Amino acid sequence: MRPIFRTLQDPQQRPAAGLCSLCGGELYPGDDAWQINQLLICGDCLPAYARQLLAPHHQICGGEEETL
Ligand SMILES: [Zn+2]
Repeated sequence: MRPIFRTLQDPQQRPAAGLCSLCGGELYPGDDAWQINQLLICGDCLPAYARQLLAPHHQICGGEEETL
């Protein structure tokens, strides 16, 4: 019987390429990440961060126009 060589390396055994600035999660080569305002953001944290970043542009549709 011939040995089976694994070609796919377990991501946990590879060195992380970076850490998410918000959750501290490890980012591996090929992972989605966003570099925003000198932060590295993972895909899990992006929606919450984007909402916070774009909060000044938030409005309620159908509501009265907000005065600044
Ligand atoms: Zn994150």
